[in-house]
Amino acid sequence: MKSDRRKSEFSYLADALMPGPYQCFLCDNEDIIGEDGLCDSCRHKLHFVPNPTFLAPLNGISIGLQYSDEIASAVMRFKKNGRMEYAAFFTQFLSVPKEWNANILVPVPMHPFRKWLRRFNHTELLAAYLSGATGIPYSTKLLFKNRFTSEQKKISDPMERRKNMRGSFSADPLVKGLRIVLVDDVFTTGATVYECAKTLKLAGAEKVYLSAITSPER
Ligand SMILES: [Zn+2]
Repeated sequence: MKSDRRKSEFSYLADALMPGPYQCFLCDNEDIIGEDGLCDSCRHKLHFVPNPTFLAPLNGISIGLQYSDEIASAVMRFKKNGRMEYAAFFTQFLSVPKEWNANILVPVPMHPFRKWLRRFNHTELLAAYLSGATGIPYSTKLLFKNRFTSEQKKISDPMERRKNMRGSFSADPLVKGLRIVLVDDVFTTGATVYECAKTLKLAGAEKVYLSAITSPER
């Protein structure tokens, strides 16, 4: 049996997931896959993160899934192997709490050279799908990465990660007064996201939140 995926009015993801392989997004096994793109076994292993901790200058944070090796390798397939169908899959685990009263979604930007290397910025795809799901517009024109930096995951020391990111973003003055939700994949030490939030706040953003797929326990 290939799949029991059915369309439903609740799942805007179904169309996006349908053309993909009839395989579980996490374990890649061919099995009976639900509308969420998961087999029963992977679905039962998922844990959601209720109250993640965060620091200023962020005003709030929403993390979808508890970190696991399966999720980490699925994120890698998405961002490094060009598997764009993962954008729809992961978006179902992103959320924007109503009380944030957000005006706009802003994907964590990638330096143009890295985007050229990877062919796309995966956080832009997430923001586009999340915009479709929430009705909140998104923009790639408000926050920019203007310095090419080493990949954060290659730096283990948290101080060095912060130093690597310092001053590497710039914000458009149009962010003044906005309540912004940054969209990212994995929230690790937060060095990137805190630097983005600082840049947006200095440019006058009223609030800056984060919506991310997963975060290792810190
Ligand atoms: Zn599975």
